[in-house]
Amino acid sequence: MTIASSEQIAERYRRVRDEVGERVTVVVASKYVSAEEMAGLAEAGVEVVGENRAQDLDLKHAAYGDTFRWHFIGHLQSNKVKVVNRFCELVHSLSSESAATRLTVPALLEVNLAEEGTKSGVSPVEIASFLLRFPSIRGLMTMPPLAADPEASRPYFRRLAEVAAEHELPELSMGTSQDYRVAVEEGATLIRIGEALFKAH
Ligand SMILES: *Cc1c(COP(=O)(O)O)cnc(C)c1O
Repeated sequence: MTIASSEQIAERYRRVRDEVGERVTVVVASKYVSAEEMAGLAEAGVEVVGENRAQDLDLKHAAYGDTFRWHFIGHLQSNKVKVVNRFCELVHSLSSESAATRLTVPALLEVNLAEEGTKSGVSPVEIASFLLRFPSIRGLMTMPPLAADPEASRPYFRRLAEVAAEHELPELSMGTSQDYRVAVEEGATLIRIGEALFKAH
């Protein structure tokens, strides 16, 4: 992907921030940018970044440290938990007991609402037992099936909000570039934005 100019990124980030309001945390999905390019994110006023890979997290954290607050949004392998424990304030994508057992930072449980076999995430019926065993779970995250129309995501977001409320979980990580507006309408407290900021048109 060709990355937009840092001025463009700054302008788009400001626009998203204004749109979603103070109560929603904008997590910038930084898998699209190199460690060097992350300097532009700091200039743009980005506070929270979400990494998909422990290796990248390690590398980028070494370069930027406390310039950002670090979240982990990728598939979490239990042998990579150590790095995440060291640097992250929140994991969005917890979906295995082996990772949960090793994790020492707060997490959201990734839920596979569409029950798509190809996707990671626990099934809704597994949530209760995870919460019993792992009290550091603060909320839920989901990735709805890919769709061109953002409205197609609404039933999944609404369902996730209902399930979180049933379990008295305050945090909801839902919505990406194409459907974050819908997610915020349905109660997202964290959105994860990549392409809408970075893609050069
Ligand atoms: C890349 C990524 C995002 C951001 O998606 P965009 O469509 O680029 O906004 C959000 N969540 C996860 C888990 C991702 O890997």
